[in-house]
Amino acid sequence: MGRVRVGINGYGTIGKRVAWAVMKQPDMELVGVVKTRPSWEALSATARGIRLYVPEGKEELFENAGIKVAGTLQDLLQSIDVVVDATPAGVGATYAGRYREAGIKAVFQGGEKESVAGVSFNALYTYETALGKASVRVVSCNTTGILRVLYAFRRAGNVRSVRVTIVRRGADLKEVKKGPIEGLLLKPAKPPSHHADDVRSVAGHDLDIITYSIVAPTTLAHMHVMFVKFNGSVSREDVIRALEETPRIVLLRADLASSTAEVRELARDLGRCGDIYEVIVWPESLWVRGDEAGIAYMVHQEAIVVPENIDAIRAVTGIVSNGTQSIRLTDKALSIGRWLP
Ligand code: NAD
Repeated sequence: MGRVRVGINGYGTIGKRVAWAVMKQPDMELVGVVKTRPSWEALSATARGIRLYVPEGKEELFENAGIKVAGTLQDLLQSIDVVVDATPAGVGATYAGRYREAGIKAVFQGGEKESVAGVSFNALYTYETALGKASVRVVSCNTTGILRVLYAFRRAGNVRSVRVTIVRRGADLKEVKKGPIEGLLLKPAKPPSHHADDVRSVAGHDLDIITYSIVAPTTLAHMHVMFVKFNGSVSREDVIRALEETPRIVLLRADLASSTAEVRELARDLGRCGDIYEVIVWPESLWVRGDEAGIAYMVHQEAIVVPENIDAIRAVTGIVSNGTQSIRLTDKALSIGRWLP
């Protein structure tokens, strides 16, 4: 098989980042993206040389706005092997039938219900389950963060229960009409938040996990505090080693930067457009006593699911049959790994 032909439906916060990441993969070709409105995001896509496709009947709207259109959504669906659906939460489900009819694979996002895709995807856990499937759902940003840290804890010992408090960003940077301006919002009031179910959909339905979710007036990132109980005791060294050995986790000394603001700035300093694909874990925050451990970490909501989408493309199309190999390819192409010497 030559390079996998990829199309993106929904060029918003997640879709555009996945599109840029696809362009960096040696085994993928970005055929084009779908925009519904001739917005600044549509213009920025064409400025980057990305072909724009539009829903049937919208061609004139774009041409009148001076934006060149390569074709319709149907044209795109007929010229790709896989679509990444990054439309708003719940909208992806309305497209599932069209993707099936076009005979292409589909990668949905965490805003869709598990039933839309069948397989909930995280490259560390369900790559092999997703191999060759018609569609998968890459779970949400918070869920992805929890799953990676939980993966490390599971390497360090036999995890009995997991408790997580999630402080969620109120809105993404561009969402000027959204999010609390003041105050912290307990949402939902009654635990667990949906993240517990989502983690179980990937890590196993028998996992004992409770999550609380608090929405905060910030756009920069989420911050979590996770407590884990093990069957038997664990050592601090074992947990640190497991964190270091888990892909897409970066340990960053809190004495260097312990706020989401500094970490986002550091990512810019390192030439990453401010996007952070890794979970940022502060080693000083690790607390271990006997069979209990706790830790704090940061999740950049706009970027963390991007490498997972790239692996999901490889899994459903079957171009790489091994999850570890796909993770290595993705991470190399996106310069994911150690940040500081
Ligand atoms: P977004 O609003 O930034 O982008 C959605 C894009 O889809 C926009 O470009 C919009 O114009 C377009 N769109 C709207 N209606 C459409 C339609 N009917 N057909 C085609 N395109 C349409 O949304 P987002 O934040 O990128 O979220 C996309 C998905 O990713 C959701 O499922 C969300 O839950 C999930 N997700 C979001 C984040 C985040 O922090 N933003 C993180 C992880 C996962």
